[in-house]
Amino acid sequence: KAGEEAAAGGTILMATNAEFEPWEFHDGDAIVGIDPEIAGAIAEKLGMELKVEDMAFDAIIPSVASGKCDFAMAGMTVNPERAASVDFTDTYASSSLVILVKADNTEITGEDTLAGHVVGAQLGTTGDTTASDICGDDKVERYNTFFEAVQSLKQGKIDAVLLDKAPANVFLSQNDDLKQAGEELGKEEYAIAVKKGNTELLEKLNAAIAELKEDGTIDEIVNKYIPA
Ligand code: GLN
Repeated sequence: KAGEEAAAGGTILMATNAEFEPWEFHDGDAIVGIDPEIAGAIAEKLGMELKVEDMAFDAIIPSVASGKCDFAMAGMTVNPERAASVDFTDTYASSSLVILVKADNTEITGEDTLAGHVVGAQLGTTGDTTASDICGDDKVERYNTFFEAVQSLKQGKIDAVLLDKAPANVFLSQNDDLKQAGEELGKEEYAIAVKKGNTELLEKLNAAIAELKEDGTIDEIVNKYIPA
């Protein structure tokens, strides 16, 4: 049945940046993580076959806005700047930014002590824009991936990295020489982006998200990757 539906419904193409464990990351040739799994469950509900296209984070919104991809799911935070170019579904998860520093750093103790320091982030993320707001544009080092930002931090080239909490925890679990400085910054909400005006797809996605929230599927997938 599912196979017939997939054939009948065609394919749906998702844009992501698979450099953001646990939300999306590479496992061999496969792209896995919370977002691909939720997207898979959504595609099944729509009777469509999911295809995932990996690209740089800052290429995602243009690819959806131009119609090259049908939707974007990339641990993407809803904000007014993005909402000017794409439409967002209802939110399906929440997050917050955290500051990573070297374990022996005593100067950066939280958001209020970040100014004056050089902060790294992945290009085009909320870590990038928030760091720019706090420290000034010229104090932000931008990288293609958060992995590269973290390497740069470990090498002492920058003072901190500003990124989403769950990926930060993955880096912390793999790097004894790093720690989180202070509290989490303000709350962010993740949603799926579609081409502006594509209300037909937006409504289908919202209906699927509502069902997957209601029946516990989304919680189950999130908890699998982010143990409470
Ligand atoms: N949540 C952040 C943002 O939307 C980071 C997303 C990411 O790097 N995949 O900008």
